[in-house]
Amino acid sequence: MPIASVNPATGETWRTFEPHSPAEVERRVAAAHERARSWRRTPFAERARLMNAAARLLGDEQAQLARTMALEMGKPVKAGRAEAAKCATTCRYYAENAERFLADEPAKTEAADSRVVFQPLGVVLAVMPWNFPLWQVFRFAAPALMAGNVGLLKHASNVPQCALAIEDIFRRAGFPDGCFTALLIGADRVPALLADARVAAATLTGSVEAGRSIAAEAGRHLKKTVLELGGSDPFVVMPSADVARAADAAVKARTINSGQSCIAAKRFIVHERVYDAFVERFVAGMRALKVGDPLDEANDVGPQASEALAKELDAQVRASVAAGARVLCGGTRDRAYYAPTVLADIPRGSPAYQDELFGPVASLFKARDLDEAIRLANDTVFGLGASAWTSDVAEQQRFVAELDAGAVFINAMVASDPRLPFGGVKDSGYGRELSSFGLREFVNAKTVWVAG
Ligand code: NAP
Repeated sequence: MPIASVNPATGETWRTFEPHSPAEVERRVAAAHERARSWRRTPFAERARLMNAAARLLGDEQAQLARTMALEMGKPVKAGRAEAAKCATTCRYYAENAERFLADEPAKTEAADSRVVFQPLGVVLAVMPWNFPLWQVFRFAAPALMAGNVGLLKHASNVPQCALAIEDIFRRAGFPDGCFTALLIGADRVPALLADARVAAATLTGSVEAGRSIAAEAGRHLKKTVLELGGSDPFVVMPSADVARAADAAVKARTINSGQSCIAAKRFIVHERVYDAFVERFVAGMRALKVGDPLDEANDVGPQASEALAKELDAQVRASVAAGARVLCGGTRDRAYYAPTVLADIPRGSPAYQDELFGPVASLFKARDLDEAIRLANDTVFGLGASAWTSDVAEQQRFVAELDAGAVFINAMVASDPRLPFGGVKDSGYGRELSSFGLREFVNAKTVWVAG
């Protein structure tokens, strides 16, 4: 895949980049490794000062960053500004809390002093996707740098200017050279980095296939990994729910980031007693969305990140329809734009039933009762998030206990929040980002015992 910014709204190539040469990658990895030695000894207060400076730059430069995202991957600018603001919040959150989260944990034993201390691992490689080109990187980088690690970023090949903008933010915030480095390289050069003894660990946010490949390669070299992979989140609506509120949230949950979100609700499982009422409002909401130029403030949904991705989505919809699914709205493509779409009567085994649809296409299912709703929700290889709508407390408890997912949201759509852990089970990956859990993924929990 060439490293290039191609505007998905127009198909025009904005800029292409020569990949970094092997010698340049070597220089950058060596600088990161060298920096890791001193950065781990930098006091928390100094790390926090720099992280707060990065937060300020993110806040001040929201509009510019949103424009870069819009032009590289089609994100509507109002969503882009919100993404930059969320990155700033997360930088501040870790600046404020990292030291406390990583404080020594004394243990009561017969030793004079026994405790756990948390020490950084060193150089961490982050392989990142294009869908939230700032957020995915900052939710790794803010905790990693605050923990005393340094970061190497291999960003998706279609968002090189986002990658360089992030590197530049950390540089201008005052982080010393080598703390955070972008590598302009293709995916084929990741295995060599995983094999490099100077790289201690890796994190990937991306597809299941990329996850398998990185886990296998990292396993060969016994490197710790965190994998944030795909999702096909269920959104369950029961009769006691506020159906109108659920349907409105469903529209947002399916079409956030033009449908290209791992935690977007993708399968809508609705109890038969409220199915018709839900569908009527949901379809009307999907039809009412404003689709168009991501630079236009008025638009809710932009193009897919590339025409190729829109074609892939279209092929999944067509295959599902050929298998018997019915189109309630949308189902059409115009270059990289895909119309908000709702599918019903979806047969088991079709793409809309079992695969991740990474675009604004909702799959509807009717459930007879709670047991069937839970069974349908769990009938997937994925397990990232789940949203369930019911005011019945016993039902809420069943959803929390029985949905196979890294997060269950009741009467709310799934969202990430720096104060809470984020990650999946099953093919959605392993490990956690955000909160104290994310901070502790890339540290050595070292046991210390001092005999009396
Ligand atoms: P992708 O194709 O897996 O790409 C993600 C990153 O991995 C890119 O930097 C890509 O580089 C690299 N990559 C791809 N194949 C690789 C391999 N075999 N070895 C090493 N690196 C490899 O995913 P995407 O299409 O950009 O993103 C969409 C997927 O990410 C969806 O499945 C979505 O659900 C998932 N996602 C998950 C989360 C989460 O938190 N769980 C969040 C967002 C997205 P190139 O660009 O150079 O190919």
